[in-house]
Amino acid sequence: MHDLGFAELEGELRAAGVSAHHAKALWRALHFDGALDLAERENFSPPLKRWLEAAVGEGQGFFLDAPELVAESHSSDGLTRKFLLRLRDGQTVETVLMGYDGRHTACVSTQVGCAMGCVFCATGQMGFGRHLRAGEIIAQVLHVRRFLHANQPQHRLRNLVLMGMGEPLHNYDAVMQALDAIASVRGINIGPSKISISTVGIVPGILRMAREARPYRLAVSLHGSTHAERAALVPVSAKWDLTELVAACRTYGATTGRRIFIEWTLIAGSNDSAASAARLAELLHGLDVHINLIPLNPTNGYGGTASTAGHAFQRLLRAAGFPCTFRQRRGLDVAAGCGQLQAAATGAQP
Ligand code: SAH
Ligand code: SF4
Repeated sequence: MHDLGFAELEGELRAAGVSAHHAKALWRALHFDGALDLAERENFSPPLKRWLEAAVGEGQGFFLDAPELVAESHSSDGLTRKFLLRLRDGQTVETVLMGYDGRHTACVSTQVGCAMGCVFCATGQMGFGRHLRAGEIIAQVLHVRRFLHANQPQHRLRNLVLMGMGEPLHNYDAVMQALDAIASVRGINIGPSKISISTVGIVPGILRMAREARPYRLAVSLHGSTHAERAALVPVSAKWDLTELVAACRTYGATTGRRIFIEWTLIAGSNDSAASAARLAELLHGLDVHINLIPLNPTNGYGGTASTAGHAFQRLLRAAGFPCTFRQRRGLDVAAGCGQLQAAATGAQP
């Protein structure tokens, strides 16, 4: 039922002969309370209860997305907690809660696996499973929020990043439907400016976000300063090359007036030289960007190693006038990177 937007929920009730104004209580139970069971809700009106009895349940068409926790790990500093969640069809996805500096951020998956095949990424190495539905994306945020409330009730979940498994812009409609519900002030209520969509660089998706004036933040995983450098890491560059991608970023920036986050996973001897930094600065000249440098997390299927030249790389970009910081990956010691908990649970880990 989390797949339905508010207007769709109203429509379903109306179609069943139930007054649409009952949708408010139902929406609140689903998205604000994050209820795991709708049967015992005291505040539901008799007509709504009757509709739920008839409509919800196995084989009835409507169901609650409440994924089951299969495995959990936390970092040594306790600031990162990673959950492996099982969906209704038995597939599993990873969801993470990060709590640095009193800021709590959920990191959710948008697909089972990923079709983009980036060579250094554990999810890419798995291949594509399927798209997640909007309800499955929302349910991950609800899981994280439930955990946070149970363990640190003084804190609120205020930030969301789509940086788990999968490529969000390859699953555009479900992602936008989910984010609209998550940002709803009558639901989970995470402000749109606190929601970041990270993309490998699906050009039509970036342009569509700009055209549709989506209010979320955009992060673009660049990783290469020439076509060859990027193509060696990100196979999808063959479809949308670096020039086209940077042009799309310029259009996005000009249309929305918003700063773009550039992600750069630093890999020794691959994209961490002074020449790469200089070319990157050239490429991004005049764009309002913040560059996030990400230390490489080793994965089973990739032989590359983390760069030791990260600070020099950062200095060069800063000297060229770009805000440039290291992504906090503190704590990913135990939790590991994207896709790795699932790999471990299925025995695919070294
Ligand atoms: N598909 C989207 C979002 C998920 S990946 C994207 O590619 O942007 C989120 C970020 O983690 C991306 O910047 C990705 O390049 C990075 N990443 C993936 N695997 C990594 C690894 N093993 N080490 C460091 N960064 C990694
Ligand atoms: Fe997919 Fe992102 Fe991993 Fe690339 S880095 S394979 S796009 S999840």
